[in-house]
Amino acid sequence: STPYIGPEEVVRKKKEYIIPCVYHFYAQPMQLVRGEMQYLYDHTGRQYLDCFAGVSVVNCGHCHPEITQAICDQVTTLQHTCTIYLTENIVNLAENLAQITPGRLQKTFFCASGTEANEGAALLASLYTGRQEFISLRQGLHGRTKLTMSLTGLSMWRTDTSPVGGISFAPNAYCYRCPYGKRHPECDLACANELEAVIKTATSGRVAALIAEPIQGNGGIITPPPGYFKRVKEILAHHNILLIIDEVQTGFGRTGKMFAIEHYGVEPDIMTMAKALGNGTPVGAFTSRSEIADAYTRPGASTLGGNPVTSAAALATLKVLTKYNLPDRAAELGRYLKCGLTELQKQHPLIGDIRGHGLMVGAELVNPDKSPAAAQLDVILEHMKARGILIGKNGPERNVMAFQPPLVITRADLDNMLNQLAEVLKLLA
Ligand code: PMP
Repeated sequence: STPYIGPEEVVRKKKEYIIPCVYHFYAQPMQLVRGEMQYLYDHTGRQYLDCFAGVSVVNCGHCHPEITQAICDQVTTLQHTCTIYLTENIVNLAENLAQITPGRLQKTFFCASGTEANEGAALLASLYTGRQEFISLRQGLHGRTKLTMSLTGLSMWRTDTSPVGGISFAPNAYCYRCPYGKRHPECDLACANELEAVIKTATSGRVAALIAEPIQGNGGIITPPPGYFKRVKEILAHHNILLIIDEVQTGFGRTGKMFAIEHYGVEPDIMTMAKALGNGTPVGAFTSRSEIADAYTRPGASTLGGNPVTSAAALATLKVLTKYNLPDRAAELGRYLKCGLTELQKQHPLIGDIRGHGLMVGAELVNPDKSPAAAQLDVILEHMKARGILIGKNGPERNVMAFQPPLVITRADLDNMLNQLAEVLKLLA
């Protein structure tokens, strides 16, 4: 017997006491009870190689000892007061973020989730510009509140039946299924150019901001070609529209750089963060340059945002990311992973496209007619789980296999994963 209630009982209680929008993976889900770097353990002690990291959350690995120590030190000293009193972790963390975020981004607001970060970023954009309209990208995901759900371009994640008005959608850069039937670079970034038409036809022209993920996570690891965000920014600048970059899923080394927007050489006006910022503890934030941030003057701090414990966790996370060069490690291992997947693709036309940067890699599964192969992906996920490996899935058709492991994963782990995947793909062929 174990001290745990076991997965059947967890599922039963979940059905009885948790609102059903909180769904879970797998036909026979396991109860996870322990994590150690790139590994997770269920209630029977069985080990799993975590290749999804809770959707890009634990970038430094589960229970990284240096982060755990920092949390323990803080949690046993002072857990929380409120931002109406002075504590120092919050300001040290903000200073740290000013140093590592692109360009002139300097002043930060702390909250407890990615949703809140995006909600706050939209408010700041409105306060600064005096405008209320927004543009978002198709297939983007920005959160669960009424506004952030309305900014989300994936119907699966839009439960709301009466979305907030004043939001228009622009095409995303989905090269594998280019809506213009073109190829980069001959396309001349037709998808980015379309933004001009959206501004002129679907809005009053007075738009506060465009919000975009640099690489769309839940949208299917949609990875824009080089030059895409430069063109977007040019068009926005022409109309005095701010650029909000949502780094909630892509930030903190995940894509081989500290932030994914760095791949595109563009400075956001406002940037939002969460997930990996606290390596699993609830931290969200948005940051902006002083000129914009200073438009937010009326009281409005978050009670739990920037509290000493989560700020200590985030400070330790940033230290670990730099100390162990995790962004570089993600870049190198990401190349290795993509090579391995490309080898598999040669034998398996089921893998239609491989994309992403660093350790944020997607493999889109397709039938011979290029239609989405979602059912096959579900089978693969089950087989991989049975072999002790957890991978993710996303995309509007749920047919994109997602690899977003803790950045401390090793080459040997990736070899193991690729070998198992090769076996499973053979079973399906
Ligand atoms: N933005 C992006 C890009 C996300 O991936 C998510 C979560 N999947 C969110 C925002 C919402 O973050 P949270 O769940 O922390 O509210």
